[in-house]
Amino acid sequence: MARGSFPPLALAYHGVAEVPLVQDPDALFVAPADLRRQIARLREWGYRLVSFGDLAGEVSGGGGSGSAALTFDDGLVDNLETLAPILAELGVPATVFVVSGWLGRPHPAATWTRIMTAEELRALRAAGIEIGAHSVTHPDLSALPYERAREELASAKRQLEAVLEEPVEVAAYPFGRATEETARACRDAGFRAACVATGRGDWADPYLLPRQDMENGSTLLGLRLKRAGRYEPLMRFAPARAARRLARRATAALR
Ligand SMILES: [Zn+2]
Repeated sequence: MARGSFPPLALAYHGVAEVPLVQDPDALFVAPADLRRQIARLREWGYRLVSFGDLAGEVSGGGGSGSAALTFDDGLVDNLETLAPILAELGVPATVFVVSGWLGRPHPAATWTRIMTAEELRALRAAGIEIGAHSVTHPDLSALPYERAREELASAKRQLEAVLEEPVEVAAYPFGRATEETARACRDAGFRAACVATGRGDWADPYLLPRQDMENGSTLLGLRLKRAGRYEPLMRFAPARAARRLARRATAALR
């Protein structure tokens, strides 16, 4: 495939910090050095790095090829302290999806760190990072009735707009999960685009745009597969793949 001609790509991160996997059971943190390597690799592959809002805009206009967006969920304080300086140094845009009801509080899955305060969130925005909504209380919106899902999304939008004093136009669903009904609730809450995760979603639906998960320990090989949308299918059929590999090895040993 020619340079810059890959399909659109959105990557879903959380925190940026050096955290051993034993202290990070949900694999929420990427080491700064790994993030730098991943950005370098995306650029080698010819991707143009854009905010999620810009990517959604390009895709809705029939474009998006060769564009990639880095996104970070929840609003961890390291996004301001560690991520923003790296992005500024490298000239890379990004989008942070913030849980509006968690501002200033410890992260439930990583209580040794916390979510940004309102003031810190304004500083992150001033550093050029796009801010999106990620609900008020981080429920699985796909399990909520339409009215409650819409309320979670609409309230998060209002609360973040009050902090930032500007429109908040994009959203990410907690746990990357949404149904058609969640997508409708998001549209009705006033957003123009939103994303799921874990290989779900569809580039043809602005409220169900796909993202690939980037976790603590994610490899460059994994990134290569995510680029082609092949990572999730391969992981899903890992037993079949292992069996094929064993069969190949056995065949090779016979030659
Ligand atoms: Zn989240």
